[in-house]
Amino acid sequence: MLRLLPILLAVAYGLVMYRISIWRTHRELDQRSTELADPRLKQLTDRLAAALNVARIPVHIYEVDPVNGLAAPDGRIFITRGFYRKYQNGEVSAEEMASVIAHELGHVALGHAKKRMIDFSGQNALRTALMMILGRYIPFIGPWIAGVLTSLLAARLSRGDEYEADEYAAALLTKAGIGLAPQKSLFAKLEELTQQRAGMAPAWLMSHPKTDERIAALERLEDKWAKG
Ligand SMILES: [Zn+2]
Repeated sequence: MLRLLPILLAVAYGLVMYRISIWRTHRELDQRSTELADPRLKQLTDRLAAALNVARIPVHIYEVDPVNGLAAPDGRIFITRGFYRKYQNGEVSAEEMASVIAHELGHVALGHAKKRMIDFSGQNALRTALMMILGRYIPFIGPWIAGVLTSLLAARLSRGDEYEADEYAAALLTKAGIGLAPQKSLFAKLEELTQQRAGMAPAWLMSHPKTDERIAALERLEDKWAKG
């Protein structure tokens, strides 16, 4: 029983963390967001809605500057104020914004938004358990190894989600008659927009796949579809 204690404690800690992070995320989003009312974007989200056989797709503006789109665990879609500003000043087209919304819809439809919270809390739990176990056998560097292992696992998990959401978005944008071009042109701009310094970290270490790899994945998808 005593041997299992670190694992039981870690699981309990993970569950509590999971509830707290969902609650915190929703509270933060509720307090700092409003529903977007943009006629030009609505025309496009209505086409996505028609392709999905739903009445409409509400999109919310999250009042922060970093350029990002996100899907909340409760299924709401958010575009950051910073991203919306890029669209308003013409750096990002309406179709490109629609491709972000489609990507976030993919995260919702594929259950990633909920899973991400579980991953996040699970990582903390796993890190705690590994630290307790490895720390006992490998003094000093045991906890450090535990941290590196969990971060690597997390990066792998979320990278897979990004490709899946991209594929979902590609299919949805095609069905809605918008096509894959805005998705690809946005990826080409993304590094500059988010001021990511490419080449700083190896691709397998980053939570988001490299943009050129995302474009290449979409092109493979187009080839596959073209061959029928
Ligand atoms: Zn994503």
